[in-house]
Amino acid sequence: MFEALRRWRQKRVLASSAIPEPLWREALESLPFLAIYTDAELARLRQRVVLFLSEKSVVAAKSFEVTPLMRVMIAIQACVLTLNLDPRFYDGWENVIVYPDEFITGLEYEDEAGVVHRRSEPLAGEAMPGGPVVLSWPDIEASADWSAAGMNLVIHEFAHKIDMRSGEANGCPPLPGEMPPRTWQKTMNAAYQDFLGRVEKGEETAIDPYASESPAEFFAVLSEVFFAEPTLLQTEYPKVYQLFTWFYRQDPASRAELLLEG
Ligand SMILES: [Zn+2]
Repeated sequence: MFEALRRWRQKRVLASSAIPEPLWREALESLPFLAIYTDAELARLRQRVVLFLSEKSVVAAKSFEVTPLMRVMIAIQACVLTLNLDPRFYDGWENVIVYPDEFITGLEYEDEAGVVHRRSEPLAGEAMPGGPVVLSWPDIEASADWSAAGMNLVIHEFAHKIDMRSGEANGCPPLPGEMPPRTWQKTMNAAYQDFLGRVEKGEETAIDPYASESPAEFFAVLSEVFFAEPTLLQTEYPKVYQLFTWFYRQDPASRAELLLEG
């Protein structure tokens, strides 16, 4: 019954909240890493984006103004992660808050020793468990083109959201039934330890050294690389690449030549 209701609602939203063609085109052109997707996949992505925007509020912080293009660009990057996954991965929270610049959330957090800290350094993005995703617009804009920035802020924060679907962000998202958790943990942990060692030795890694912060950051940063520069992940950590093709049900490296043509 609920499923039937959900489908009826989705049909209604898709019929009434279409994204105008010029806006959709402009958003796609602003995100060059989407060149690997077929027209059929982009059409499916567009539906996901419409549904995402009907369920989440993308709101501005302070005196900022969120334009339709900003909303669509954020939603596209969020939905790329779950294109072949159950969209309910993003259930349980409502808002995406967009700041005009880096921000300080002033959130308190407890460290492993039980000491409560207040974050005071400005952030470009943050994903809160059960709460909003907070993003700085200039940082989204700067990282929309991977080849210029070597990062993708929106994919990073939404990878944390996927991770948090099974509780605290720990680098292990809820896995599909056929994927043994031990395989995930072994593969990710071996790669993480290797990467940590390389960063500690002072090696200049092609993957953002921020990935060495924690297993949760490792998962988020490697998810960025998986979608935006898949051949880099395939070369650096082939087993993680393989694991991610299994988890995300996408194989972006097999189409990487399309990125060069774009
Ligand atoms: Zn992070």
